[in-house]
Amino acid sequence: MKIYNTFTKTKEDFQPINPPNVTMYMCGPTVYNYFHIGNARSFVMADIVRRYLEFKGFNVKFIMNITDVDDNIIKKANEEKKSTTDVASFYTEAFFEDVKRLKIKTASVYPKATLHISEMIEVIKELEKKGFAYNVNGNVFYDVSKFSSYGKLSGKNTEDLESGARVDVNEEKKNPLDFALWKKVKESEPSWDSPWGKGRPGWHIECSAMSIKHLGKSIDIHAGGNDLIFPHHENEIAQSEACFEQKFVKYWLHFGFLNIQNEKMSKSLGNFFTAREVLDKYSAEAIRLFFAQTNYGGPLNFSDELLNSAQKGYEKILNLAEKIEREINLNTRSEIIPDFDVKKYYSDFEKVMDDDFNSPQAAAVIFDFIRAANKIIAENNNIDSIFYQGLKQFLKNTAENVLGIIHFGDLANALNPNIDNEQIEMLIKKRDIAKKEKNFALADQIRTELSNLGVILQDSKTGTTFKKIILK
Ligand code: AMP
Ligand code: ZN
Repeated sequence: MKIYNTFTKTKEDFQPINPPNVTMYMCGPTVYNYFHIGNARSFVMADIVRRYLEFKGFNVKFIMNITDVDDNIIKKANEEKKSTTDVASFYTEAFFEDVKRLKIKTASVYPKATLHISEMIEVIKELEKKGFAYNVNGNVFYDVSKFSSYGKLSGKNTEDLESGARVDVNEEKKNPLDFALWKKVKESEPSWDSPWGKGRPGWHIECSAMSIKHLGKSIDIHAGGNDLIFPHHENEIAQSEACFEQKFVKYWLHFGFLNIQNEKMSKSLGNFFTAREVLDKYSAEAIRLFFAQTNYGGPLNFSDELLNSAQKGYEKILNLAEKIEREINLNTRSEIIPDFDVKKYYSDFEKVMDDDFNSPQAAAVIFDFIRAANKIIAENNNIDSIFYQGLKQFLKNTAENVLGIIHFGDLANALNPNIDNEQIEMLIKKRDIAKKEKNFALADQIRTELSNLGVILQDSKTGTTFKKIILK
């Protein structure tokens, strides 16, 4: 298996430090807003990488941090006259809801920055002891001049960086490239006690401290969007390697931007659609297919045209999946078991995904498979159901478990979009009232109407629940 390493700028053989275990850290959201569909691209592609490693038999520990203390959160809290804790917990909840809707697999841990302050202080103390950090009136900075290989990830050299560093003029810093490890408290900001006085951590130290806590001193894969290569990941390397004196990350993996009219979609530019807005228009599977159909490292333009075509692609998979489920239920026994080389599709899928997670090619293999399967189904009658079992197994192992572009468990929901859950709940309430009023004719009518739409009601002592079924 090959993986493109930003650090060496080459495709390398993937050899984890401690197989079959793989440790993977992904820089997660800063929770001051709903995340946008650009962030979603990075989250979904990280999910596909993680799922493929699991497909290969690795035991993946996947960590995604939540940055819940930050300038933007403080700004938002001041604007909305709320506490930073309220802002952060509101958008953390929203983050979990959207991740679930995008059918992203839950991380092993979602560490929150504010719950790791003491770990961050320990790392900063160690850096100070080793001479990599200096304290100026309660602000602690990392001394970039002390870390001789600074710039090795981004390929920038410190002289060029210094001459270009108009940013962040700060009288207290020895060098414009130095960055904050600990920020002295300002009025009405959240703060914690520390050896340097009250304050809060800088952004970069969060990831160094949380990755060591949950994954150890050296990790296999560290991922994030391209915008994080410099300075965020460069600074993480400087902190972690100075502190622990060993290689921090074996493979650096970076996701290309989702652009809108050829410009990076970003919260600060305001040119974004939230993931939840897009999820109201397109299914999660179509959105995931839209992302998967471009290489994770390159740019991708957001467009309704591409999303519509992904939605059509998803419907093709859905149609076959529905046919498969129906035939498996029929459980036909017959002599007709067409020759279909499913193994070839498995090996094609694995071959392209082994080549640095080539998901566009992998999706192409799945569509070839669907075309071939549909042709066989059209040309044969009365096929034994074992044939359909084989089709289902392939689609589950590849399209569902790796790319997440079909979910057999959700077919009924996907195929019955005519009535949404809210409408169903409303009709259940109406039926409850009818029953109380002994209007059993109306209650029965509601049950029949729902059943015609593929919604089956189940009454129990605690109330009425429903399940959706595939309409024959
Ligand atoms: P943020 O909440 O801005 O810290 O970003 C969360 C994650 O989304 C990080 O891994 C970013 O690199 C990534 N990201 C931000 N904007 C985009 C974009 N337009 N396209 C792809 N990934 C992005
Ligand atoms: Zn990070």
